[in-house]
Amino acid sequence: MPAIYVDTLSVPRLSNPELYGRGFRKAHKVFDSVSTLEGEGFPVRRPFPTARLSQADPFLLLDQMGAVDYGPGEAKGTPWHPHRGFETVTYIMDGVMEHRDSIGGGGVITNGDTQWMTAGAGILHIETPPEWLVVKGGLFHGVQLWVNLPAHQKMTAPKYQDIHSSDLGIVSSYDGGGLIRVIAGELGGHKGPGMTQTPIIYAHVTVAPGARVAIDWPDDHNAMVYALAGSGSISEERVAVGEGQLGVFERGGAISFTADVTQPAYASAGWEVLLLGGVPISEPVARYGPFVMNTRDELVKAYEDFQSGRMGHIPAEKIPHRGAADEDPIN
Ligand code: MN
Repeated sequence: MPAIYVDTLSVPRLSNPELYGRGFRKAHKVFDSVSTLEGEGFPVRRPFPTARLSQADPFLLLDQMGAVDYGPGEAKGTPWHPHRGFETVTYIMDGVMEHRDSIGGGGVITNGDTQWMTAGAGILHIETPPEWLVVKGGLFHGVQLWVNLPAHQKMTAPKYQDIHSSDLGIVSSYDGGGLIRVIAGELGGHKGPGMTQTPIIYAHVTVAPGARVAIDWPDDHNAMVYALAGSGSISEERVAVGEGQLGVFERGGAISFTADVTQPAYASAGWEVLLLGGVPISEPVARYGPFVMNTRDELVKAYEDFQSGRMGHIPAEKIPHRGAADEDPIN
């Protein structure tokens, strides 16, 4: 997994929350992912939304894309499609993804880079492996997170942030057992580069086999650990969280999670997890495919606006090997 890896001896350390008397959150629940196909047919694991967990407010969707080792000609992306009412955050650990949108944003992200798109009032975009990767094949592993926008920001102007792996906030847990890459939010004064509209913390953590990570966490943020690869447990009670599962903590206090001593060969650096949490928006959610609003009427308006071209147009220099404008975007 060639996301950023450094020796934890060489990076700043977070403090031990036990030293200033912080109690730890208990585990609330552990949720399984569903396995599905997205876009043109790439495999994803999705801990939410599912029948058991419709959202993890302020997060709407989490898709682990791969890891998949594509043969020549097999790599897949999405066709051009619209979004309105939230933000899509794509973090790539292995492989390459190309992105273009109708406001001229876009670029190529790889190995620890993040692309942060605030869809706001509406945007069209395409996410696809570059042509050379399709031809050659290769390993692909990434994550897409949807972050909701509060009602008063749903119709904000669309925006694009291109975040390079070298911009991430790199810190370690107090004893060096966990390498933490902060993508957005702040841990112990160490900030991630993602500019968020609603307060969240989003990080990729590698926990050395057998190591326990204990970090402070803001009381007003919920907290979750999603297992990308390998296995471990959350809380001081050590509630098991296996690969593809999402462990959710109760509210209030610091958090802890522990990697199992034995990890699979493909997670040789340790238990690979996403650490995420935020301040819940606590508003009604009305969703239909790529649109997430507060009411059904707003969804109808979103669909009409998309159909009449008010969410923008596919640029003339569109990526040639992907994306027909007349494809149904709602599936
Ligand atoms: Mn999209």
